[in-house]
Amino acid sequence: MEMQIKAPLDKKNRPILITGPCSAETEAQVMATAEQLANLNIEVDLFRAGIWKPRTRPDNFEGIGFEGLHWLRKVKDTYGFRVTTEVANTQHVFEALKIGIDVLWLGARTTVNPFSVQEIADALKGVDIPVFIKNPINPDLKLWMGAVERIYKAGIDRIGLVHRGFSQYGHTIYRNAPQWQIPIELKRIFPDIMMICDASHICGSRDHLFEVSQTALDLNYDGVMLESHIDPDNAWSDAKQQVTPFQLKEMILSRLTARSTGQDDPNFLSNIEDLRARIDVIDKELIQQLANRMQIAEMIGQYKKQNNIAILQPSRWNEIFTKAMEQAGPLGLSEEFVSKMLKAIHQESIYHQEKIMRAESNQQVE
Ligand code: PEP
Ligand code: MN
Repeated sequence: MEMQIKAPLDKKNRPILITGPCSAETEAQVMATAEQLANLNIEVDLFRAGIWKPRTRPDNFEGIGFEGLHWLRKVKDTYGFRVTTEVANTQHVFEALKIGIDVLWLGARTTVNPFSVQEIADALKGVDIPVFIKNPINPDLKLWMGAVERIYKAGIDRIGLVHRGFSQYGHTIYRNAPQWQIPIELKRIFPDIMMICDASHICGSRDHLFEVSQTALDLNYDGVMLESHIDPDNAWSDAKQQVTPFQLKEMILSRLTARSTGQDDPNFLSNIEDLRARIDVIDKELIQQLANRMQIAEMIGQYKKQNNIAILQPSRWNEIFTKAMEQAGPLGLSEEFVSKMLKAIHQESIYHQEKIMRAESNQQVE
């Protein structure tokens, strides 16, 4: 489908910032967060707060509902920030429009469902409002594109994307795996589309907010969405990942460096800096996967110890080696390289298993 998508916000020569609490909880909390952001002179392009919260499990705070929209309106009237919230059905759209919310967004659990996306698209027919579309919770590029197409077909042409990471089973440093290759591919398909990185929902904790935001800027994203709250530890939702407006400024925004290439760089994905940024992303993933592999090796170490099995199992090692060689050839990797790499990984696994064996035998001695 031929689309002429326009930017949902004016592009700036600095990263765009969408910030505010995960959820609107009380009028005082919403207003105080906005006040702190304003007093710190943080340039807020959009003030966010969730009014209806899609929660994974039923007993969590599900949002304050309609009355919270008045608080967002008050933020807009008092501090001049443009305001945004998540809509997930027709009623949300009508209520948000009635109060004068400036920009709407579709959440990850909505983008995943074409029925919901279509319902919202139908509710938006004849309305002129910018819409951001978060990635679906599963790493399905077509589903994300499909949501853009449905909203566009309803007559909305100011559309932006928010990359918030993808659900995964098992523990990594991220709450939602970034899988950067998916937004990168979408930027290739829609070179001008505004791409915002929601580092808060990717990270799920405060630890890597800066690093993930910086990676996004290195990949030529237009800006970041970062949740901020006056009292993050006591937030009613997403407490672990929120920061105070002061922390937002000091720990993240002031340290971020934007790329020197223009936001509209036509050579995106072909110049050397873009390619290097992509290599950095892959290297990070390789290290993470190697760490995951070592964790599993340690679990095998425990099992071998308990069952009195020797660490080195030549037949198993042969099997790993042969399979990898078969896979490597057609991919253009030399036998020499793959063999060196596998031997190094195997050696590291043996160290990890030996560590486990020793730790357990020490326990037995004590
Ligand atoms: C949110 O932005 O608070 C939210 C619920 O996000 P997501 O749809 O990315 O889970
Ligand atoms: Mn949240």
